[in-house]
Amino acid sequence: MEPFDDLLHQAEVAHGHLCAGQILGVRLAMLGCQRLGIAEPRTLDRKRLVTFVEIDRCATDAIAVVTGCRLGKRALKFRDWGKMAATFVDLNAPIERTDETPAYKGIRIAALESSKQRARELYPHIENKNQQQMLAYRELADADLFQEQWVRVPLHPREMPGYKSSRIACAVCGEGINYDRNLTDATGRVLCQSCASPELSYYHPLD
Ligand SMILES: [Zn+2]
Ligand SMILES: [Zn+2]
Repeated sequence: MEPFDDLLHQAEVAHGHLCAGQILGVRLAMLGCQRLGIAEPRTLDRKRLVTFVEIDRCATDAIAVVTGCRLGKRALKFRDWGKMAATFVDLNAPIERTDETPAYKGIRIAALESSKQRARELYPHIENKNQQQMLAYRELADADLFQEQWVRVPLHPREMPGYKSSRIACAVCGEGINYDRNLTDATGRVLCQSCASPELSYYHPLD
């Protein structure tokens, strides 16, 4: 694994600034890779590591830098749970199949709520919270910053990096739909998510 300071610098460049979240994210991702026995996450076969992130904040960028897992490679999965946590899934570690969706062994790492308090205790004289946390998050032991849990993560083949998807056109808007994200209505028409339930769509046409 590259040294912490090198990874932190790369995270700073990718993220646009140095902040406590970068330090926490780099450490969280380094710990995750270490637990999976992956020394060089960015040089390995991209089909070995999939990372789930649970928040779209500073640390997420750092996690992507350290692991090399990217949204565009389908190796970074976003679950918008608003939690400072990530799960590192080892595709080389399948768990016995119990249903049609294979599951893999992963390590879920979550930042402890108490880590901010630990930072206050360590640097009580520093009033700026970000400065205080930036210093403390470098020094505190992993056990003071994170909780860890081994987990089983079901991952359907269609969610895998490198999955060759067919494409099907929506019967209403005509746009192509990949990765089986299409739905079928009562009359058997193939629809995209937006046309199938416009009220749930994230966008609404003007006029
Ligand atoms: Zn930031
Ligand atoms: Zn459509």
